[in-house]
Order: sequence, then structure tokens, then C-alpha cells
Amino acid sequence: MSDYTPPLPEIRFVLDEIAGLDEVAVLPGFEETTGTLADAVLGEAGRLARDMLAPLNHTGDREGARLENGIVYTPAGWTEAYSRFVDGGWMGLRFDADHGGQGLPRVVSTAVMELWHSANLAFTLCPMLTQGASELLAQHGSEAQKRTYLRPMVAGRWTGTMNLTEPQAGSDLGAISTRAVPEDGHYRITGQKIFITYGEHDLAENIIHMLLARTPGAPAGVRGISLFIVPKLLPREDGTPGKRNDLRAVSLEDKLGIHASPTCVMAFGDGGGAIGYLVGEENRGLEYMFTMMNDERLAVGLQGVGIAERAYQQALGFARQRVQGRADAGGPEKVAILGHPDVRRMLLSMKAQTEAMRALTYYTAAAMDRAHHDPDGEARAPQSALVEFLTPVVKAWPTDLACEIASMGIQVHGGMGFIEETGAAQHFRDARITPIYEGTNGIQARDLVGRKVLREGGQTARALIAVMREDAAALESAADADLGAIRARLERGIAAFEAATGWLLEAGASDPRLAAAAAAPYLRLVGTITGGWLLARGAARAKARLGDGADPFLAAKPVTARFYAENVMPHADALLAAITEGAGTVLVLADDQF
Ligand SMILES: Cc1cc2nc3c(=O)[nH]c(=O)nc-3n(C[C@H](O)[C@H](O)[C@H](O)COP(=O)(O)OP(=O)(O)OC[C@H]3O[C@@H](n4cnc5c(N)ncnc54)[C@H](O)[C@@H]3O)c2cc1C
Repeated sequence: MSDYTPPLPEIRFVLDEIAGLDEVAVLPGFEETTGTLADAVLGEAGRLARDMLAPLNHTGDREGARLENGIVYTPAGWTEAYSRFVDGGWMGLRFDADHGGQGLPRVVSTAVMELWHSANLAFTLCPMLTQGASELLAQHGSEAQKRTYLRPMVAGRWTGTMNLTEPQAGSDLGAISTRAVPEDGHYRITGQKIFITYGEHDLAENIIHMLLARTPGAPAGVRGISLFIVPKLLPREDGTPGKRNDLRAVSLEDKLGIHASPTCVMAFGDGGGAIGYLVGEENRGLEYMFTMMNDERLAVGLQGVGIAERAYQQALGFARQRVQGRADAGGPEKVAILGHPDVRRMLLSMKAQTEAMRALTYYTAAAMDRAHHDPDGEARAPQSALVEFLTPVVKAWPTDLACEIASMGIQVHGGMGFIEETGAAQHFRDARITPIYEGTNGIQARDLVGRKVLREGGQTARALIAVMREDAAALESAADADLGAIRARLERGIAAFEAATGWLLEAGASDPRLAAAAAAPYLRLVGTITGGWLLARGAARAKARLGDGADPFLAAKPVTARFYAENVMPHADALLAAITEGAGTVLVLADDQF
């Protein structure tokens, strides 16, 4: 039996009340996305997640992926699961009908992806990367490349990878040294890539590597990198997979978590050069690759939401069953640990923060839909700027929190959490990669501060603060104790966000190192307050819908938001102090004093 329940009422609530599904559904191209359609899609995706993917999560972790004679085998049951996934048309949910997709808004496909990440993070990495590679081709590929590669990828018959990292080139992609030499309409690729997720596997009939390399005489650094399509099997004229290309998985990494996801060391060109096809123009590869990287950054943030939800469900289930001790209020009966205030605190902390993370990721996905589909051209630019501003926050804040939440999930279990049998430990191990890959969270913080705040003089941050203030002012605090408490804390948090942004703009102008030292606490502050603001919005809507009714789901919303406002938002004050008072000290010690 599955131990995962798709949180469909919660997802629908966030779609409707926080992300504004009804407004997205009237944008050109999305007119058919009614609430009924969203329910049908989510219901079906939820069944797949619960009945097929979730039961494979634990067995996949135990068995792991393995490499034998050049072939990577995924764990038992995975090829069947992948076939069902492909047959259901799930890969192409958000892609245009022109490419064989179903054209659903990003906000709906985001909700669907959350279900799969929760159910089985290691499995979902494969579709996640394929979707990112497809987005890259849809935006930057030639018509011929789209015809050959995009359709089979959107259908899921072929999968995609991201081939960036090399031993000397991790966060610093300017150090990439893989070579691409032109030859008769294609290029010969030689080099080694490491840590390539699903670089080789037995799920699909072909694997399309999106690879960064340097052409002869290319400028040094990031301005000399080009992007190539390097197929495992070279497509024939008729588009079917043909001859094997000169590339292979040399080994698989032995990892802390996501054991079933093959992390490959890839060798390109051992036999003279793998054939690769240039995307766009030479030396603009990193610019194109950012389309895929931004896509994956949002997807990895969503992984954080998914795994936090799973850890919460697991801990809650345990807390309801585990009987230990007596109630603090007294009485002879032993109680389930859910009755103990400290366990309730942990569970509410997991629940509230997971809901805040979900709200932020869906809100950002809806902003993407608006940025691409709003018929009013002038309304698009601010939405694009908002998505750019929030992308590093969505990547980093939920993934840092996912580790904390999965750790708390273990704590709720007591000793049994540390024992692999319960599964709580797996969530913790699996979550740990999410702050690292797809640009470490340190790199996300740098991006937020450098590119998204300092470079544009804080414009988008200020616009976001103005919207938050409007929402805070609209909370009917006088009439309602919950909303009043939320409003007071939210207003303080917004003030901290504003003060931290102001300090950064000043400090960054005089000393960029100071701004870099404050980047991580600043990102945390932005995530904390943005998440709390969206929970406040949900609380107000739930109150309005609830009226005098007694719906327990809606009634929990203001309480959860108030818990967050009183227990999590005060961290903003501490973060502000760390930014404005503590950043300088980060830089004082000499290297040999560490
Ligand atoms: C399981 C797994 C799967 C992966 N999948 C893929 C994949 O499919 N494709 C792919 O191309 N790569 C993949 N990666 C690689 C991953 O993206 C990198 O590990 C990551 O970007 C960090 O690079 P690095 O490991 O070289 O760390 P480093 O860059 O060496 O960083 C080490 C530390 O220094 C910090 N740091 C480095 N530079 C800076 C800076 N300028 N400012 C502030 N801090 C800095 C980092 O934040 C980090 O804390 C995967 C990695 C793993 C472990």
C-alpha cells in the first residue's frame, strides 16, 4: 500500500486562492483550462503518483541504479513505470500542441510535477531534465532540430540531459574544457563530463545530451562556450534512432541519496569524437543554456516542496500511531505523540513552511504564464522581471528548508527515524542534494543580490514590497484576531525586507564583497517574508470563503498562517541584523586564521 496521499485539496486551494488560476485560465491559449480540467488532470496524476511511483521510491533507493558492461539498469519496476508515464502523455503536459504537447499552463503542470517529486524524486529527475532540455530546444533549436528531437522528447520516447559539469568546472562554467571541432556540418566532441543525471539508462529508446563545449579559438571564459545536441543514437533520415554515437557512461557515482537516479561520469569521443550539432550560434551557448538552467532551478525548488510534503505526511502518520507518555494536562491514559505540544510544534512547523514554499512556487509559475501569455504587452515585462527575481529564491529557499523539514521529520519519529526501514531517513538523504545541484544555493544567493537587486537598482524588489504592503493593509485586522496577528508580523517582515534591500544597495555600491557576504541571509529573508505574505493572502481568502461555516480544511488556514507569522516570520528581524551588522565580520579573518 502507498504511504503517500496526494494533497489535492491543498493544491487546488493554492491554485485558486494564491496563484490565481482563474486569471491564468483567461489568458490566450489557456481558455480550456477550467477548474474541472485541472481537477481531472491532478486526480489522474495523483493516482499515478500514489499507486505507481510512491511504492517504487523505497525499493528504488535500496536497489539503486547499476552499470554493467556499459548499460545502466534502473531498479526493478522502473521501465514499466516509465512506459506508463509516457503512455499517459505526461511528459508533454506544458508543451505546445505544435510540438505534440498538451499546452497546459505552467502553474498546472507545476502542481502535477509536485506530486511526482513527492512520490519519487529519483524517478522524476528524468522527466524533469527532459522537460528542461525540451524547453531549451523549443526556444533556441532550429526548425530541423525541433522536428528531429523535440517531438520524441515531448512524447517521452527520448529523454534529455544537461551536460555542464567537468572536474575543474562546477560553479564556474567558464572553466569548461570539452572540445568541439567543426567537421562537415557537425562537430566532433571530446571530453569528460561528471555528475550527469540520467546520462545513461534503460528507460527510453534514445538519450539527447545538451552539452557545453569550446570550439577552436573560442574566447576564454563564459564568452567562449557553445551549446551542442549530442544524441546517444544518431537519428536516421526518417528520424528513427540509428548508429551509436561515440559516447558512454564510464561509471556511476556512489551517493548519499537519490540512489535510483544514475549519476554518470560521461566520456565523449574516446573513439575519435562524438558527433554533435551546434544549437544557435557559436559562443552563445551559456546564454541558451540559461533557458534550461532557469527551468531546472524552478523545478529543483519544487523538488524541495515535494520532499517536504512527503516528509510531513510520513511524520504525521507516525505521530498519530506512536503511543508514548501521558498528556501534559494529566490523566492516566497514554497518548499518541501527536498529543505532545513539542511534537505538534514540529509538525506545524513542517506543515506551515511546506505550505508557504508551495505558495511561492505556484505563484512564480503563474507569473511565468502571465509573462508569456498576457495579451497586454506592457504587463508582460514586470511579470518577467518578477520571475527572474524570484527564480533564485524558489530554487534555494525551499531546498534549504526541505533539508530542515526532512530532518524534523526524523526527529518526530525518534529512534525509528534514524532506521532506514521507516523511510524518513531516505527523505532526508534525498533532500540533501537539492541545495547543491543546479547552481548551489550560495550561487543562487549571489545571483539574487548581484543580478537581481544591485544591477537593477532594487526596482523589482520594491515593486514586490509594494504589492505585499497592499495585501497587508487589506487584512481585516480589527475584526479578526488571527488576521490581526498575521498583519502585525507581516508588516514588520516587509519592513525588514525593505531595510535589507536598502542596505544592500548602499553596501553593494561601496563594496561588492560586503553584499556577497550578506547574500545568503538576504535570500532567506526574502523567502521567509514572501512565503509568509502568500500564506496571509490564503488565510484572508479562506476566512472569506469560510464565513460562518465550519469547514476544517479552510479553518486551518488562518491558524497555520498565524503560526508561521508568529514562529517563522520573526526570523526576519534576526536575518536583518545578520545582514546589516554581521556581513562585515565575515570578511575580517585572514585565510590562515581559519
Ligand atoms: C547527484 C548530482 C547530480 C548532478 N547532476 C548534474 C547534471 O545532470 N548535469 C550537470 O552538468 N551537473 C550535475 N551536477 C553537478 C552540480 O550541478 C554541481 O555539483 C554544482 O553546480 C556545484 O559544483 P561543484 O560540485 O563543482 O562545487 P564547487 O563549485 O566547487 O563549489 C563548492 C562550494 O563553493 C561555493 N562556491 C563556489 N563558487 C562560488 C562563488 N563564486 N561564490 C560563492 N560561493 C561559491 C559553492 O556554493 C559550494 O558551497 C550534479 C551533482 C550531483 C552531486
